[in-house]
Amino acid sequence: MSVNGGPCPKIELHVHLEATVEPATLLAMARRNGERLPADTVEGLRDFCRFTTFPHFIAVWIAVTNVMRRADDFRRVVVDYAARAADVGCVYVEGIFSPAERVRRGVPWQDLFEGYCDGAAEARERHGVEVRLTPDITRDFPLGEAWPIVEWAGRYRERGVVGVGLGGSEQRYPPELFAPVFQRVREDGLGSVPHAGEMRGPASVRTALEALGADRIRHGVRAAEDPGLVRELAARGTVLDVTPVSNVRTGVVGDLAAHPLRELAAAGVRCSVSSDDPVLMETSLEENVAAAAALGVPPRDQFFNALDGVLCEPGVRERLRRLGEAYDWEGVSA
Ligand SMILES: [Zn+2]
Repeated sequence: MSVNGGPCPKIELHVHLEATVEPATLLAMARRNGERLPADTVEGLRDFCRFTTFPHFIAVWIAVTNVMRRADDFRRVVVDYAARAADVGCVYVEGIFSPAERVRRGVPWQDLFEGYCDGAAEARERHGVEVRLTPDITRDFPLGEAWPIVEWAGRYRERGVVGVGLGGSEQRYPPELFAPVFQRVREDGLGSVPHAGEMRGPASVRTALEALGADRIRHGVRAAEDPGLVRELAARGTVLDVTPVSNVRTGVVGDLAAHPLRELAAAGVRCSVSSDDPVLMETSLEENVAAAAALGVPPRDQFFNALDGVLCEPGVRERLRRLGEAYDWEGVSA
């Protein structure tokens, strides 16, 4: 975890690991696993994956994730992403994966968790990147499919699983539906890191805090529509995991200049910065870091805001803090 002299240190807390896989790797996985993709060349697959509309994004997500079937696929996804993260100075990643869809397609729970956790261990050894994992509950699936995620997350706590998230159609499935599950998440000592305040407004953020005991909010940017909530987030010190470029792609904001990150930060809300779906939304951590810097949150603040929200064990957090404090941030703008 030493980056002095290279790109400035970064912490990424909101990245969907399934959305980090390059087309060439997807094609290789599809061939090996006997799965079909809508294109059989890198260029064709890149064209298919290009973000157009949200419904198309979902179609892409399904096609892409269906090729990932073996523990070794999940391991590789983590290690490949850690290699890219290390290249841009990223020292800590909290990666998201969505197990329920894979399990519906016949992938054993154990293969998923073993693969991702093996990947996290290998990421540290080979690339010096600390990876922690936060499986997402899919809102669109029945509650019964959420419980095993919490159970398996608890079993793999010693191997890098630090929290449980909530993803999927926020506009149709509000946070409170999942209150009993997140009560268990917290009882098990895991972090609560739901998506909220992306496709729905402030009420969703408020419920994520109150009904789910959110330790951080993934997105949360639409809290900006309610000045009272913004003050509350600032007072609580709740970290928002903001992804400026994906917010433009999905139409949450019209363009980067209109992004509420500037006003959230000015009001004292701690905002970390992440890429969300780098390959599937044609973006990168660096692009988001630069966008956030242009919106008035310098890379040093991004690093220490994220550090306030990490769910890893205190020893790792302390190492990250020392690394951030030892770095010469003078003149680092992005
Ligand atoms: Zn997300």
